Amino acid sequence: MSTDRPVLVINAGSSSLKYQLVRPGSGASLATGLVERIGLDGGRVTHAAHGQEHATPVDVPDHHRAFEVLRAQFAEYGPDLAQEPPVAVGHRVVHGGSRFASTVLIDDEVLEALRRLVPLAPLHNPGNIAGIEVAREAFPDLPQVAIFDTAFHQTMPPAAYTYAVPRAWREEHGVRRYGFHGTSHDYVARRTAALLGRPAEEVAVVVLHLGNGASATAVLDGRSVDTTMGLTPLEGLVMGTRGGDLDPGVGGHLARVAGVGIEDFDRALSKESGLLGLTGSSDFREVMARRAAGDPDATLAFDVVVHRLVRYLGALALVMGRLDAVTFTAGIGENNAELRSAVLSRAGLLGIRLDESANGAADGEARISTVDSPVAAFVVPTNEEWEIARQAAALLEG
Ligand code: ADP
Repeated sequence: MSTDRPVLVINAGSSSLKYQLVRPGSGASLATGLVERIGLDGGRVTHAAHGQEHATPVDVPDHHRAFEVLRAQFAEYGPDLAQEPPVAVGHRVVHGGSRFASTVLIDDEVLEALRRLVPLAPLHNPGNIAGIEVAREAFPDLPQVAIFDTAFHQTMPPAAYTYAVPRAWREEHGVRRYGFHGTSHDYVARRTAALLGRPAEEVAVVVLHLGNGASATAVLDGRSVDTTMGLTPLEGLVMGTRGGDLDPGVGGHLARVAGVGIEDFDRALSKESGLLGLTGSSDFREVMARRAAGDPDATLAFDVVVHRLVRYLGALALVMGRLDAVTFTAGIGENNAELRSAVLSRAGLLGIRLDESANGAADGEARISTVDSPVAAFVVPTNEEWEIARQAAALLEG
């Protein structure tokens, strides 16, 4: 990558457009921005470049206008996209189904396949698709690349991704585990191998991605072999507003005893559960502050979060049959030493010896296990935008 021209990374949701201009070689971020409240009142754009942040109220009725706003921000505050045009636009796409096992160049046929995948991710894929459609109009001369949250997990064996449900569900409706946060798990597992000083293809690591959404992945020799999220990003760990694992019988029970319909049930599981359901707040910092003040709901929530993590850490290590490292990432994983300590202090059976002072002092990439710990533990800040830029550039080069 001799010139290291930047990639414009786009993460388009139904009502927001997040963007970043990133050099794929060095990871240097030249600009970041967020257009908020698309299609709603009170739209605004925040653009940061050259060490300065600019927030401006804007009217954004749709994604088309959001891209005009994006272009105007670059024109006004830089960097000048005409002076050094991006080499590609890299789109984060949440669900690639079984169809997309790797990053792809977007053409009409790919776009059509993405539309067919909407039933698998009705909350996420439509926003991603809207972003792609308008980006093609806004940047007709640039290659558009799709990077999927699910692609990294397509290496899972059937034993890990198969749900034991009726054949018709599996064969006609795509009901299986797909997994998410793939770019993050991929990036963090490779950084972990680098910190161990070993090739990624020889390392067994459990990555704990703990943000508003949370998932744990077993990455064996560079490949995902199991992960906690499933058909949708609802399964597995306790998250900000999602509760993770649940007896599937709860749906039928609530329908019968309380008349809860499927739309309400879906909404409660994705928007009203998790930390929010347990404490009234989805923000982990707030939960921790309340727990410190002795709030019993916050105390229970923390204990439930830790219990689920310990359970999966053990399970994923056993699935791989060996373990070199456990790595924490994303908002909570990177910033909350107390949670890391609570989880790892119960992982002695796996051969992890926590270094409490290293854990407390961790800032950026850090080893938080003792030097003689048989299995290492790390904190690695995730960088999904860089990974997306890297994969987009690699696809074009290869
Ligand atoms: P997203 O999944 O939206 O990208 P993030 O990775 O930004 O989420 O993580 C958001 C979560 O991280 C929130 O629950 C927030 O409270 C938590 N978080 C962020 N900073 C800290 C911190 N310093 N200490 C504890 N939790 C933090």
